Amino acid sequence: MKLNQGRMLTSMPGPSVIPDRVLGAMHTAMPNIYKGALVETSVSIFDELPAIARTAGRAFMAISNGHGAWEMSLTNTLSRGDTVLVLESGRFAVGWGDQARVLGAEVEVLYAPERGPIDPGAVEERLRADTGHKIKAILAVQVDTASGVWNDIAAIGRAIKAAGHPALYMVDSVASIACVEYLMDEWGVDVTVGGSQKGLMVPPGLGMVWANDKALAVHQNADMRTPYWDWSARLSDDAHYMRYCGTAPIQHIYAMRAALDMIAEEGLEAIWSRHAVFASAVRAAVEAWHVDGGLEFNIVDPAHRSNSTTTVLSGSIDAERLCAICEHDAGLVLGIGLGDFAGRSFRIGHMGHLNPPMVLGTLATIEAALHAMKAPIGASGAAAAAQVVADALNS
Ligand SMILES: *Cc1c(COP(=O)(O)O)cnc(C)c1O
Repeated sequence: MKLNQGRMLTSMPGPSVIPDRVLGAMHTAMPNIYKGALVETSVSIFDELPAIARTAGRAFMAISNGHGAWEMSLTNTLSRGDTVLVLESGRFAVGWGDQARVLGAEVEVLYAPERGPIDPGAVEERLRADTGHKIKAILAVQVDTASGVWNDIAAIGRAIKAAGHPALYMVDSVASIACVEYLMDEWGVDVTVGGSQKGLMVPPGLGMVWANDKALAVHQNADMRTPYWDWSARLSDDAHYMRYCGTAPIQHIYAMRAALDMIAEEGLEAIWSRHAVFASAVRAAVEAWHVDGGLEFNIVDPAHRSNSTTTVLSGSIDAERLCAICEHDAGLVLGIGLGDFAGRSFRIGHMGHLNPPMVLGTLATIEAALHAMKAPIGASGAAAAAQVVADALNS
């Protein structure tokens, strides 16, 4: 029987749920794009974005998704023949590194241990061995939405510093910015990459890159620069038109304005805490469901399970069927397993515009689908998650 009427809920790791206030802000007629309200709104976003990444550096925004922001970060800072060290712990850093290879860089990949985070000690060791400083950039992902890992970006920054290595430290925070703590300057990050459709609660279509002074200085001599992504061109234009290298993404600018207002009203720290509560609720559910041979966390160390995404290995349970029941019969879209995880896992996104009915509804719906499949589960995950939410409501 189908029970899928009502509003469809997406609980995948991006795109996340768009608040009605953000959607409403996009309903606007085309304004003057050269001066007036649109330009003022856009300028206000460029001015406020650095604080979201906790940096005194500059923010750039392009009409793109996260992949576009990756390309902006690379073309603006690298030269052909540069060596790039990719720290892989899932799927996304390698994708970013593949772009660098196609653009003309030499790419070396340092893999995290299976089902774990990047090891800062291994990074330090590799960098110390690079006595000639051939490595020009280090690419890492804060939260990898394929594996569900939460890397310690601060510790990797300390490792780079301890090795005394001058490479640019570049971090993909697409799936974590405005979800979990991110302190770009304090952690020694030079370039941060973000996208609109996850913690920032805006539809896909805006890619962001934050750059500090060191990155902007390296940019001056980078020879991979291309006309569309070029930071210098985007910084040069007083009339604002070139900030986006052409017509501004009008509706996305209004969406972003509304989202930043919501973020400011709640406060970043409160947002990080809310994500911590919902992530604990999801983890309590997965723990309760666990039986030998059944569901289990992909990431072994609890300290490195992300507060924005949980990747669940499905064991003997058919993950594709579980996702299909949830989506087609119950109106809940989960994340399927990506890459190596395809067919043996599913992913729960818990990022952005979320409250207990959404998170508990997601978990109880998964539980109902598991029961419908007669899947082996331990105890009630929904009940365990409700207890976590109850404790938070009392605190
Ligand atoms: C979603 C995501 C991206 C970018 O994805 P796009 O589909 O290009 O917007 C990059 N990195 C991570 C870790 C992501 O989760």
